[in-house]
Amino acid sequence: MKYCPECGVALTEQSIQGRGEAVRCAAGHLSYPPGPKILVAAFVSCGDKLLWMKRGNPPRAGHWAIPAGFMESGETLREAVARELWEGTCVSLPAEAFTPYMIGSINFISEVYIGMRATVTTEDCACGDEATDVGFFREEEIDWDEVAYPSANAAVKTAYREARSKRFGVYHGNFTRELDQLDLVWQPGD
Ligand SMILES: [Zn+2]
Repeated sequence: MKYCPECGVALTEQSIQGRGEAVRCAAGHLSYPPGPKILVAAFVSCGDKLLWMKRGNPPRAGHWAIPAGFMESGETLREAVARELWEGTCVSLPAEAFTPYMIGSINFISEVYIGMRATVTTEDCACGDEATDVGFFREEEIDWDEVAYPSANAAVKTAYREARSKRFGVYHGNFTRELDQLDLVWQPGD
């Protein structure tokens, strides 16, 4: 987005950088990049650990994140998440291995955030094209202030709690400027 859709003024370098965030022109009009986009994430647990990757590419290169990326045209949700997992961590799982974990909104970057989960029995993984390091980690090993996307911390911490308890629910997330909140929608046995 190079020009304000409201008044046509050129957006400055400073106002157009960042990760798909809403920008303000000099006249104060707020505009959003085309969207919303669908962001899929793979919450893969092995025992009480979750799989992380250190991002090799901007945005947030050098920071740890749950493997994730944008769904492409023609893919199913499960295919998209399996592809992103493979591209980041060289963990190859069939699309059927994934079950829904969370649907959420990240409204300030105009993304729909969909988390799918899978469990594995070995910690086999390796750096894919999009990662500079990968690994399975326990919750207490994570530096929560240094992760790539702190706005997703509620989703990740809940995934840890579920991996430990082996009780898996389905959640709705609100990840806004004001909230980092995950609400339980459904759990087996409810
Ligand atoms: Zn404007």
